[in-house]
Amino acid sequence: TYRRLSTVDALTNVLNRHGIERFVESLEATRVTASVIFIDIDHFKRVNDLRGHYGGDRVLRKIGEILGAHTRNTDGLGRWGGEEFVLVCPGASLSSAADRAEKLRQKIKETNFIPEDPLPVTASFGVAASRADQSFDDVFRQADEALYLAKSRGRDCVVAAADDQMHQVTGARKGTWAMLSGRFKLHK
Ligand code: GH3
Ligand code: MG
Ligand code: MG
Repeated sequence: TYRRLSTVDALTNVLNRHGIERFVESLEATRVTASVIFIDIDHFKRVNDLRGHYGGDRVLRKIGEILGAHTRNTDGLGRWGGEEFVLVCPGASLSSAADRAEKLRQKIKETNFIPEDPLPVTASFGVAASRADQSFDDVFRQADEALYLAKSRGRDCVVAAADDQMHQVTGARKGTWAMLSGRFKLHK
């Protein structure tokens, strides 16, 4: 049948936002819990400024490939918008999703995105897990808050939003913990 709205992002070939929304609806319909990983490229504006919009597009496509290569066929991988991606992992616990995010963070950091004219590319990650009684709107909001915290922690790190509002940080700030409470406090 003819579908007016595509579910695939033309640039990166992963799901677009609409596709992710459809994916999440199907999870909600079957009451499957999932972890959500938000991924936002760090200082992406700088990539465009230094390597042009086409260079930026190349980085976006390659990020899509890297994420896709580490995605299971039960996962939902999408481009949420701009230089922001989302990976929805049904059945994954918070800690296993955070581990996967940490591996992806390292993979992106060690990738040479523009071989003929290299520049460093990193990404920040926010992770949250759904409970059976929780809407995915809430989980996406938690993952987005965790991502915001990862940015404020200096980028190139993973922040996982735990139930008790403790946020585990790995990567550039490995071993530190952060607490979010309206305005967040940080401690080692
Ligand atoms: P931060 O580390 O805080 O995330 O900084 P940032 O520069 O990555 O974030 P910001 O939101 O300021 O800039 C995002 C940039 O992404 C701005 C926009 O021009 C660029 N962008 C969005 N969509 C595309 C696209 O499809 N292709 C390219 N090349 N650039 C895009
Ligand atoms: Mg960014
Ligand atoms: Mg962004």
